[in-house]
Amino acid sequence: MSLTLIANWKLHGSKSFSRDWLNSFNDSYQGSSLSSIGIAPPSIFIDDLTKHIDNPGISIGSQNVDHFPSGARTGEISADMVADAGGQFSLAGHSERRIFFQETNADIALKLDLISESSLIPILCIGESIDEKDQNKTEIILEQQIIESLSAGSKLQNLIIAYEPVWAIGSGSSAAPEEINSIHKLIKDIVQSRFSALDLQGVIYGGSVNIENAFPILEEEEVDGALIGGASLNGEEFAKIANIFNELKEL
Ligand code: PEP
Repeated sequence: MSLTLIANWKLHGSKSFSRDWLNSFNDSYQGSSLSSIGIAPPSIFIDDLTKHIDNPGISIGSQNVDHFPSGARTGEISADMVADAGGQFSLAGHSERRIFFQETNADIALKLDLISESSLIPILCIGESIDEKDQNKTEIILEQQIIESLSAGSKLQNLIIAYEPVWAIGSGSSAAPEEINSIHKLIKDIVQSRFSALDLQGVIYGGSVNIENAFPILEEEEVDGALIGGASLNGEEFAKIANIFNELKEL
């Protein structure tokens, strides 16, 4: 199984929000299979959400896990705990984690290993800042993030990379579709040349994807899906983006 469209609810939601979201999603979703769709709610809702999803249905996962498997780490949750709660994937290295919680590529490498060891699908988030983009450093930054985060890459199964330019996240303006396409190609080339044994399932795009811009972004050849924040809080809008994706990729 691989995931193509993932909702990142960030610090939003409640049990009643989850119920309403699933109802709106189900009312608007036209696809026959849900198995490529993921929701990353705040971890405290993983258990509840998994109980309200039909099987085989939408995968539920976490937005983050700790880079230690256990220990004196007050407030943290481990990859094993996510799996135990019924989670099936985890993000690692979201830019909000890198910026607000000072996560380094070395931390992210440890997280990816633990995620994989817990049989969760690992989703590595990478992306350049606006300063890095303005200084034409996008390529070098992405390469560095990939190389340093996949130091134990050969062990990872089913890896997905989410390309999320920091300047596009939550800004209301996404990167241009052709630019996204060429950066996805670059990411695939870097992984292929540096980690040829690695099982890369796809490169998905994140950064202000919504119902208006989903079509031109998702129709690009190298775009294998999307990681969606703001627009994913509306079950109907997320379902409509999924419908566009299914139509484009003939799922
Ligand atoms: C994200 O946080 O992963 C994201 C892509 O957010 P948004 O869609 O709101 O830009």
